[in-house]
Amino acid sequence: MLKLEDIVRVSEDYVKASSLNFVEEMENLQLWENTILFGVASADDPIFEDYKKPEIIGPHHISPKEWMPEAQSVISFFLHYSDRVRKTNYSPDYPSTEWLYGRIEGDYVNIALRKYICETLIESGEKAISPSDDPRWLRLGFNSNWSERHAAYAAGLGTFSLSRHLITKKGSAGRFGSIITSAKLEPIKRPYTDPFEYCNKCGACFPRCPAQAITEKGKEQEPCSHFVHGIVEVENAPRFGCGKCTTKVPCENGIPGPANK
Ligand code: SF4
Ligand code: SF4
Repeated sequence: MLKLEDIVRVSEDYVKASSLNFVEEMENLQLWENTILFGVASADDPIFEDYKKPEIIGPHHISPKEWMPEAQSVISFFLHYSDRVRKTNYSPDYPSTEWLYGRIEGDYVNIALRKYICETLIESGEKAISPSDDPRWLRLGFNSNWSERHAAYAAGLGTFSLSRHLITKKGSAGRFGSIITSAKLEPIKRPYTDPFEYCNKCGACFPRCPAQAITEKGKEQEPCSHFVHGIVEVENAPRFGCGKCTTKVPCENGIPGPANK
């Protein structure tokens, strides 16, 4: 029977060996770091029903057992952008080209890893699906019927921030993926109780945002989306992205300490 540590090991080996993780035309830009954070939640965790509340995600959120009746566990992982992707994005105002590759070509790695983990579980005799790649996955306005960040929160990977990212012990400059499986894995005990526990409200992300979308009340989706899609994507299609609020800030690479105010 597969254990979480087996899944971590084969996943890290997979990403290390994947040519998708390097962009030749960008001087062999490495997109993701070699270490991947993993978390696990029980498919029966009542938090997934809570996510159906309108003030959290909404009734359109599909719970693990609705995605797959045999579901026992939800595996979530965090891919952290490489040093080069993050540091080139320290400049103000406009995302670096490296970041745009990280956002789009990096997602190909994320998709391939989700597929690889599903295949590994299926080969071991389990059932597995990745909701984000399932034909039932739906985007509804600014959210969807399966949230990778909420799955990560449930799986013990981190807590939300004013910039609406999830802060993990490796920071917030990265992306999440998740798998629902029939494999019964030991759930991770969430090391937090408050959904915003790791965000120290320092405000460093406010002036980083070219769209002035973040304040002490949180992030407004409209101006962010307009900047990312209405400006950056129009000039760089098929690539888009921004990530200024997760780079050159105290929560870029870890859980920030208390804010100096
Ligand atoms: S920069 Fe500060 S306020 Fe903004 S998300 Fe990170 S910890 Fe929270
Ligand atoms: S992604 Fe960019 S535009 Fe959107 S909130 Fe973050 S810094 Fe602002």
